[in-house]
Amino acid sequence: MQGANQGRRSLLKAITGGTFGGLLTRREAAAQAQVARAVRATPTPIIKDVSVIATAPAGLRLVVVKVTTDQDGLYGYGCGTFTQRADLVVPAVEKYLKPFLVGKPADRIDDTWQACYNSSYWRNGPVLNNAISGVDQALWDIKGRQAGMPVYQLLGGKCREAADCYGHASGNEISDVIESAKGYMARGFRHIRVQIGVPGMEGYGARGGTSSVTIKALHKGPVYEPAPYIRRALKMFEECRKQLGEEVELLHDVHERVTPIQAVQFAKDVEKFKLFFFEDPLSPEDIAYFRQIRQQCSTPIAMGELFNSPHEWNTLIAERLMDYIRIHVSQAGGLTPCRKIAAFGEIYGVRTAWHGPGDVSPIGHAANVALDLACYNFGVQEYSPFGETTQEVFKGCPVMTDGYLYANESPGWGIEIDEKAAKKYPFGNERGGRALLNGGWGEVRKRDGTLIKQ
Ligand SMILES: [Mg+2]
Repeated sequence: MQGANQGRRSLLKAITGGTFGGLLTRREAAAQAQVARAVRATPTPIIKDVSVIATAPAGLRLVVVKVTTDQDGLYGYGCGTFTQRADLVVPAVEKYLKPFLVGKPADRIDDTWQACYNSSYWRNGPVLNNAISGVDQALWDIKGRQAGMPVYQLLGGKCREAADCYGHASGNEISDVIESAKGYMARGFRHIRVQIGVPGMEGYGARGGTSSVTIKALHKGPVYEPAPYIRRALKMFEECRKQLGEEVELLHDVHERVTPIQAVQFAKDVEKFKLFFFEDPLSPEDIAYFRQIRQQCSTPIAMGELFNSPHEWNTLIAERLMDYIRIHVSQAGGLTPCRKIAAFGEIYGVRTAWHGPGDVSPIGHAANVALDLACYNFGVQEYSPFGETTQEVFKGCPVMTDGYLYANESPGWGIEIDEKAAKKYPFGNERGGRALLNGGWGEVRKRDGTLIKQ
């Protein structure tokens, strides 16, 4: 390098006759010193360890990956929560990604994502995508801490002050749903998801099964039938509009629980209630039916919390067959792919509504908020409150005020994890049947015993 510089100086001297060449050399030296100073200030951190924090402070299994670097005190956290199969994400990180990553630079986020994604050869599965997300978000956290900035700044800075959120109102009776919705409105929410139970049935987002009605079925487990649910939901929307007015934005999640042609009819029938969005009317296996919904009504469609692969969302975005992309960020592989999906959506007029239930860790919620703030085509953010035990483990969660979620302004995600507190809430301490199934979901069947998608 020194030889090359000397050669360049000699050449400049020869061209300029010495005096002007000497001036350039001093400027060149000053520039080089400046670059050296900048590089010294941000040396490339090397990945020293990759570990997993598995904790269930609110009774839902959360998986967080911690990436530690060779620089003292420089580490980051990423969400890899796939709560229904949480135990499987842990060895995917510890046995495969850790040996693959230790010794590699921590500051090449996209390159590292591509390398992890391709290293399994077979890809786009939920376990591996969540494991990659844990690493990916941890690297963004590290870069934010290095830069001394929250991650949304690394994505270009704020397009808005805070993320407008929706809360979950539900009940077994329509009057319960309306009361619940009024509670959210009183707390300043402008967007509310409304879900109604069906007496005797296991509804989604509302448990009608707790009523005294018993449905005659050919099995002893939870029962669900799509037609009574649809009829009851339509009555609920009618009453909601009467009692809550036109101003409040109403949302609803079908949770892929009806047949494709019922979904088309249902989307047409709710059009008059002017929903903010109508979520998951179809399962990922039936996405071709979105064309029929689009051709027949203008009900805004949200889709995608079950998506793992670009093969699932590419067509829906490019053909403008949905309005809100609902991806569970860790399920798609983390912040790196999701910021690209958001940019792809912006071109086609599709807005974001990242999945934000209780089975996303606060780190994952912080990643959602970073995207919400930095992406122009933000639509709405699903909100789940951070309870006392969750905040005991995760210090610095995003803050909810008047229906708006505010990012932590500290570097990275701004969240520190109390690992000692995390150990107080191990997997297996969850409430109810989920504990017996390692956090997995049970079964819901029709009267005749046919299993339904949940
Ligand atoms: Mg949903």
